[in-house]
Amino acid sequence: MSKTADVIIIGAGVHGASLAFHLARRGVKVTVLEKRFVAAGATGRSSGLVRMHYDTEVDSRLAWESFRYFLNWKELVGGDCGFKRTGFIQIVARKDADALRGNVVMQQRVGIPSFLITAEDVRRLAPSFVTDDFDIAAYEPESGFAMPGDTASALINAARAQGASLLQDHAVSGIIASGDRVTGVKTSQGSFSAPVVVNAAGAWAGQLNKLAGLDLPYDTWRHDTMFVVRPAKIVPSHPTVIDFPRELYFRPEGGLTLVGLEDGNPLGESPDGDADHAKPGFVERAIERICERIPVMEQGSLHSAHGGYDGITPDQHPMLGLAGLDGFYLDCGFSGTGFKIGPAVGLCMSELILDGAASTVDISSLSPLRFAQGKLVSGAYQNIWH
Ligand SMILES: Cc1cc2nc3c(=O)[nH]c(=O)nc-3n(C[C@H](O)[C@H](O)[C@H](O)COP(=O)(O)OP(=O)(O)OC[C@H]3O[C@@H](n4cnc5c(N)ncnc54)[C@H](O)[C@@H]3O)c2cc1C
Repeated sequence: MSKTADVIIIGAGVHGASLAFHLARRGVKVTVLEKRFVAAGATGRSSGLVRMHYDTEVDSRLAWESFRYFLNWKELVGGDCGFKRTGFIQIVARKDADALRGNVVMQQRVGIPSFLITAEDVRRLAPSFVTDDFDIAAYEPESGFAMPGDTASALINAARAQGASLLQDHAVSGIIASGDRVTGVKTSQGSFSAPVVVNAAGAWAGQLNKLAGLDLPYDTWRHDTMFVVRPAKIVPSHPTVIDFPRELYFRPEGGLTLVGLEDGNPLGESPDGDADHAKPGFVERAIERICERIPVMEQGSLHSAHGGYDGITPDQHPMLGLAGLDGFYLDCGFSGTGFKIGPAVGLCMSELILDGAASTVDISSLSPLRFAQGKLVSGAYQNIWH
């Protein structure tokens, strides 16, 4: 096994896998070091929503560029990402209606198939929904969800087919530098050298940033989700929905509905906490909220619930780019919403590393340097996560 590469990527979640894929396609010798296994972190726990509605253009552009991959996965990557089209509805409270209108205009300018629809239209699309607390919603008929574990595996398999190495059970425990330049990493199974090292370690990335001598604002974000068995009265299914008034999102999966809450997601916990079970009280809150939006869900039953951890930054946007040591890049901090932008972020990061700047989408506003410069990213919705 060679212990020398052009680029070392720490972490085999969707972002490490995507970057490995795009770099390997360009002939770069990549080694991915993963302390557990592919998609062991947030990616394997992700709800997998694939939609383009965001309140900042850079997010919508990254999601739209990624959508091209989800739709044409076999041709562009190979294997299967499990994309399913369900249609996507973004519901906002009346106070956010103007922001919603502005976002849809922005998305249409980008080329995204997104439309304003009325509450009555929502009722036509989803007759079981309560629709008396909002006037308009955004609708993306082409959107849906994908299988995050399959997505990451397909990307890493395609990278390996083009020469990348994946080393699982390799925990990075130190960053090696010579002067101001990164030269490699220490792992649980020896040292590896490369002139470029990328931190794609998700919720654990803050620990690695510290090992690299960086003092950046980076926290962990815990998020629980549950599956309920949908009552037979909801036929045939329902769209994927983000419901800001109820701080709720949900999507179908076969005869189940996956439900997550936008509030009550604790910060600052150890990313090694118990993710196999949801926190006490989550299921009760989630059932109450989903039944408020879809009253007939009262006839459903709980299937299962679990949690996961992601890295979060103060403006809830990722850190993408060089930080500190020459050759040390960050590809982390996706703040609970990074799955759907995985394919395009990997492409943009490969352009940044190899060409000096990303040409597919301008990601310069997401540089880790923005925190020291006081240039935090902000969008049209106030005080809303996601
Ligand atoms: C429950 C949940 C639901 C979500 N739902 C959605 C959604 O619907 N749509 C959406 O777009 N996003 C969603 N997200 C967010 C999305 O899943 C994440 O932003 C994304 O998966 C992050 O990918 P990543 O590759 O950066 O990190 P991860 O998937 O966490 O991968 C990081 C990897 O690094 C490894 N690692 C850590 N430390 C080390 C080390 N020292 N050495 C070697 N390897 C290391 C870990 O084992 C892990 O495999 C959700 C997140 C959670 C937790």
